[in-house]
Amino acid sequence: MTSPNVAVIGAGWAGLAAGVALTDSGVKTTLFETSRILGGRARLITLNEQIVDNGIHLLSGAYTATVSLLDSIKMPLESLNIDRQPFRYSYGPLHINTPPNYIPGKRLLGFLFARGLSLADKFSALKFLQIVKGGKLVVEPSDSVLDLLLRYQQTATLIELLWNPICLSALNIQCERGCASVFTNVITDALLGPEDSSDLLFPTVDLTSLFASRAARFIEKREGTICLGRRARITQGKNNELMIEGSMKCFSHIVVATSPHNVQSVFKESSMIQATLNLINQFTYEPVYTIYHQYTKNISTDTRMIGLNSPYAHWVFDRGITHQDLGLIGIVISGSGPHQDLTSEQLAIRSADILNEKFSFGTPLWSKVLAEKRATFSCTPGLKRPAQITEKKGIILAGDYTYQRYPATLEAAVRSGIKASKIILESL
Ligand SMILES: Cc1cc2nc3c(=O)[nH]c(=O)nc-3n(C[C@H](O)[C@H](O)[C@H](O)COP(=O)(O)OP(=O)(O)OC[C@H]3O[C@@H](n4cnc5c(N)ncnc54)[C@H](O)[C@@H]3O)c2cc1C
Repeated sequence: MTSPNVAVIGAGWAGLAAGVALTDSGVKTTLFETSRILGGRARLITLNEQIVDNGIHLLSGAYTATVSLLDSIKMPLESLNIDRQPFRYSYGPLHINTPPNYIPGKRLLGFLFARGLSLADKFSALKFLQIVKGGKLVVEPSDSVLDLLLRYQQTATLIELLWNPICLSALNIQCERGCASVFTNVITDALLGPEDSSDLLFPTVDLTSLFASRAARFIEKREGTICLGRRARITQGKNNELMIEGSMKCFSHIVVATSPHNVQSVFKESSMIQATLNLINQFTYEPVYTIYHQYTKNISTDTRMIGLNSPYAHWVFDRGITHQDLGLIGIVISGSGPHQDLTSEQLAIRSADILNEKFSFGTPLWSKVLAEKRATFSCTPGLKRPAQITEKKGIILAGDYTYQRYPATLEAAVRSGIKASKIILESL
């Protein structure tokens, strides 16, 4: 067995998950990260001297790989810093409240007693879920989520208030354009898995503290190296050894764990993985807008998360409740939409007006609009995604876009990182 020496490019959740799994197996690992802050798209930023997240993230009870990784890297007495809540869904006039996990059939009860749906809506949603659960759903590769929903007679109310918001939250794309088979995977795992799989998991600390800093501590304790502020580019030595420009070391394997739009720039000679790049270069991207409004400390929505069914404010998060950031309200707008036609200033004003109408918060003390233009790849029907093993021996991909079952999510990133480590260990 050769002694492996692995480089991981990118310290987002995929690269860090790979780093944790590799160093835990005793593999010599060096991580390179362009930024000085760990966590990639799920990282902290500082606004007005306050630590917040680059984008508000919600985890699901179906994120089993993520939760188990978070658990494995924390110190014995450290908290997981996750506030796990039973599925509670409030979007415009629709309210679904599920009882706690110990009550059998809690999700069915939640649906039956939902407010804002007619009996016909409830019947049609439950029938659809039953067909999904029974594995009897007919999904064509070219189907959009909307095609699927219409084929199974989902009502306009269900589409507007339930399925499209779920599609936007999970796939970050409107149901007219979202991939039906990936959507079905999400529904199957998050709504039809074990009772606690539909729980909502709210981080209670910033995302870098939740995972990335702990992962880095874990890696360094196992003699892994993390090079921050270091943009890595792959080159080949005289005998085709894998190297990182500017470093004299040769690597047995390199895990490329950047977001898809950065993959090409990681290679000095793109011909090394041309077929893979041809697939990635077909990708298009969807934005996520996060708008923070800071009010006086005494205001609250009285709920962690609420959906407003407005194109200018999909979901409202009360960071006072989740993070003890009193008076700080975060709004998330997923995917493309009319909000993109507004300037940041107009969007800040528009969304503050919506909050004021609903909660009478008045005018915020300050507001900030964060527009992540390439937050996720567009999870459209028939999209061909690259395999993690590339045509170049020793080069393995990781990242949310490589985990085929899921859309771009933390869970997809984590699973892809763990899989990259398995691929390497199995190749030894
Ligand atoms: C605003 C927003 C909200 C979101 N909300 C949710 C949510 O609620 N729930 C959820 O599950 N998911 C959510 N996501 C998606 C989730 O953040 C991503 O799926 C996940 O973070 C992707 O992780 P990754 O490691 O694959 O990629 P990234 O996080 O993009 O990490 C790639 C890393 O590679 C680094 N890099 C790039 N090039 C180089 C180079 N040449 N050398 C060294 N380093 C390099 C980058 O700096 C980056 O740190 C959201 C995303 C955004 C943007």
